[in-house]
Amino acid sequence: MSADTNTKSPAAMLRPAPRVTPETKAYWQAMHDGKLMLSECEACGKRSHPPQGICAFCWGGKVKPRFASGRGTLNSFSIIRQTSDPSFKGRVPYVLAYVDLDEGVSLVSNVVQCDIDRLKIGMKLKAVFEQTSEDTGAVLFEPA
Ligand SMILES: [Zn+2]
Repeated sequence: MSADTNTKSPAAMLRPAPRVTPETKAYWQAMHDGKLMLSECEACGKRSHPPQGICAFCWGGKVKPRFASGRGTLNSFSIIRQTSDPSFKGRVPYVLAYVDLDEGVSLVSNVVQCDIDRLKIGMKLKAVFEQTSEDTGAVLFEPA
């Protein structure tokens, strides 16, 4: 049996809004505006997600925002068929995925608009964004 992910009305299933802090405001705002923000270290050039004030690799204090292309590859996934979280009950089954961005950074997200039977490790994905409040958003992925 196959099942499409996320085919229900988005208005009826708003994702929970994140807790915004002064340090994370630009990150959540960027996703609201359809952009995925990373941070890039000026010393070693490595990128991190989520963006942070110091480099996770060399601990350098000079990092700058960098926007991801939104392209990535499915590294692994799990199909969630049950949840007690009311925000996600209308979404089951949904796909929890580990995505490797083309920028060399990995993150956990959801794959949407994809028949579960079509999911395949290594498949190319592209970012899509969903608003979670008036000034925050979430990044999801769909087949490229
Ligand atoms: Zn660094």
